[in-house]
Amino acid sequence: VPVEAFDMVIFGATGDLARRKILPALFHRWCDGQIPENSRIIAAAREDISTGEYLERASEFVNGDKKAKAWAAFSDRVSYTAIDAHGDGSGWETVKDALDDDPAKVRLFYLALPPSVYGPVCAAIESHGLVTPRARIVLEKPIGHDFHSARHINEAVGAVFDEASIFRIDHYLGKETVQNLLVLRFANMLLEPVWNANGIDHVQITVAETLGAGERAEYYDRAGALRDMVQNHLLQLLCLVAMEPPVSLDGDAVRTEKLKVLHALRLIRAEDAGQCLVRGQYGAGLIDGAKVPGYADELGQPTKTETFTAIRASIDNWRWAGVPFYLRTGKRMATRRSEIIVQFKPVPHDIIRADAGVLQPNRLVIRLQPDEGVKLMMMTKDPGPGGMRLRYVPLNLSYADAFEAGYPDAYERLLMAVVRGNLALFMRRDEVEVAWRWTDAVIRAWHDGACPLHAYAAGTDGPSQGSLLLSREGREWFDGHHA
Ligand code: NAP
Repeated sequence: VPVEAFDMVIFGATGDLARRKILPALFHRWCDGQIPENSRIIAAAREDISTGEYLERASEFVNGDKKAKAWAAFSDRVSYTAIDAHGDGSGWETVKDALDDDPAKVRLFYLALPPSVYGPVCAAIESHGLVTPRARIVLEKPIGHDFHSARHINEAVGAVFDEASIFRIDHYLGKETVQNLLVLRFANMLLEPVWNANGIDHVQITVAETLGAGERAEYYDRAGALRDMVQNHLLQLLCLVAMEPPVSLDGDAVRTEKLKVLHALRLIRAEDAGQCLVRGQYGAGLIDGAKVPGYADELGQPTKTETFTAIRASIDNWRWAGVPFYLRTGKRMATRRSEIIVQFKPVPHDIIRADAGVLQPNRLVIRLQPDEGVKLMMMTKDPGPGGMRLRYVPLNLSYADAFEAGYPDAYERLLMAVVRGNLALFMRRDEVEVAWRWTDAVIRAWHDGACPLHAYAAGTDGPSQGSLLLSREGREWFDGHHA
């Protein structure tokens, strides 16, 4: 379904994110006929280049050959302007002229910029008279590096745009399988009655990458795995698993329920660090059989930044009392995968007493990437005459098999959601700040609790302490992919 026509200014348009994700996402939506012809895209960054040069560079990330005609038509909607986001110079007038002056048209400002410029660019948008009644702003992560800096950014942006016009991207919320979590939970009767401390033993959330810090190492070294991944993506996933049913899918209804979960997240204290927190940094190792250097060597200097973290989180509310949520994320891990494992309680009494095979608890595996899908792990009888033999098998929903038509990627979905004004897929200010407050407490506990930085070889599942976090409680990480 086409969205209404819009104008979009992309600040930071020459950067990695804009070229690799935003422009291709817009192009794909254009190819699918979702973007009306009278939409405009104004690309802006400091570099002084022509629109032609910009489009030449931008085409690197779209498969231009196959879709050359569509790219030409799409390009007609794009212009490039050299601009300083701080608000000076003639670029701002050029942007103003390029924008449709119809106040009823949706106007989007996408800040693919370093967060330090978010405040100044908002002030400049206002001082140049670019805020119209239907103007919206899109912010990329990270919103700050702690509670105070996040609050500072939110204040500066909030001084120009009201909260209903601010779209804070967490691209995980745009993923098909993450959206499906809401449907799985709230459109099926089967799960909800056991979706609590009575039915669930624990939850695991893993986001593992095989990539290293790469070209973003300078940024990454200031952030680390906790700030880069847990504060936003993993906590958002945790919220969607743990929240109460919202009254509707309306933006504020969903976000209020997520906020309640964040408020209920127990702040980890220094004395809990040994039991709840693991930090690691990758050394040299093998990824797909190829040698890769360690993180500090990639960076070119010694560093204490974590590239892996595992956390035992607790949600202090009625539904989740006593149910640990184990979070784990890392770079240069053995396989790239993002998955949520919901492990149910064991049956109360074993009447099967099988000749072979052990009773295992049911597990719901929600696989976000790659090979999106949902598996419900069940005990079954191994068919045949050989007595009571058990087999643990998945009821398997593979997206690739079930939905041949494919579906838009996260950025495509999110950009169209901004045009539609669907706030449910974006983080509200209070969510971001409360998530930072919890994250800040983890960092304090790391320091005060003297949480060591463990080395792990690239191409492994992180330091062994990550497994210990579960095994000391009689649990283990479950590999949902190979199950
Ligand atoms: P990047 O490659 O360094 O690009 C930054 C862009 O901002 C460039 O176009 C740069 O161009 C422009 N810029 C910087 N200062 C400016 C100023 N004062 N005025 C106007 N333009 C300015 O960064 P990125 O990786 O694309 O990331 C952009 C934002 O997205 C950051 O907040 C980042 O944390 C976030 N993000 C990125 C990714 C990713 O995969 N790359 C993922 C998630 C979030 P000029 O120097 O020519 O002005």
